[in-house]
Amino acid sequence: MRRLGVLIALALGAAAYGQTLPEPRTVKISDRVYVLLGPIQHANRLNQGYMINSTVIVGDKGVILVDSGGSDEVGRHIATAVRRITDKPVTHVVNTHHHGDHYLGNAAFEGATLISSEMCRKMVLETGHEWLAIMERDIGRRLPGTKPLAADVTYPEGARTETFIHDVRFVFWVPRGSHTIGDLLVHLPDDKVLVAGDVLVSRVVPTLQDGFVKNWIQTLNEIQALGVAHFVPGHGDLMTLHDVAALRDALLRFYSGVKQGVRNGQSEGEIRKSLNLSDWDKLERAYVIGRNINRAYLESERDFFNE
Ligand SMILES: [Zn+2]
Repeated sequence: MRRLGVLIALALGAAAYGQTLPEPRTVKISDRVYVLLGPIQHANRLNQGYMINSTVIVGDKGVILVDSGGSDEVGRHIATAVRRITDKPVTHVVNTHHHGDHYLGNAAFEGATLISSEMCRKMVLETGHEWLAIMERDIGRRLPGTKPLAADVTYPEGARTETFIHDVRFVFWVPRGSHTIGDLLVHLPDDKVLVAGDVLVSRVVPTLQDGFVKNWIQTLNEIQALGVAHFVPGHGDLMTLHDVAALRDALLRFYSGVKQGVRNGQSEGEIRKSLNLSDWDKLERAYVIGRNINRAYLESERDFFNE
């Protein structure tokens, strides 16, 4: 009986546990661009893997959604939030990068064209099962309906491709690997909006674990020159130009500190003590700081030997 109960619970998903997913906070940027601000905590039993921002772009004949959430259930939850904004169908889903919290909801948008960078597609194919296992571990149950679906349409590194979808002008920009090896930035020049995935974050520590800190700083410099008014981060509240500059400065300070430590022959532990991390220590996800130091340490060691 108990076993049967478990099977039924698995089949029904979150609802069988009496859990309701947290509702996003909807922010209207313009008549056709809305942001669904999700929870900022790491994936857990309460948020069921819903921990990202999604952007809803309402075109003349359909919706372009940027980032679909961390499971099929989260994807359906986001789809419900989209329907509160418009009854037009979601015809395109853009994935900003291959971290599971941002794209494992793709399966909820059957028939939609999936868009990402070329490298993101490759990473989804190679690491999708690992991300699914991480999500299942973090939320504490299986996700049988969640499939890591890779993109149908991709853009190569370095490309800035202008295209119209449902009469909205898009520039899909693939910078050199910054937060990950396959970031895709979505620029809406006529709306003065940039949807940046985790290349921009607010209220959480930026995660460097799969990143490239020098490229990231360079990308943030280029972002500041776009002439955009509304910056949509992957996690946390909408950002201003000033916030983007502050993030860039924080990453630069961090990297300079790590690099100086490597020059002085310090260990990672010694570097951690010598850095001023007071800004990051009080944010959500402060646990990534150690991994950030490790990643920046390896990158500056490579620089050091190449100098
Ligand atoms: Zn990420």
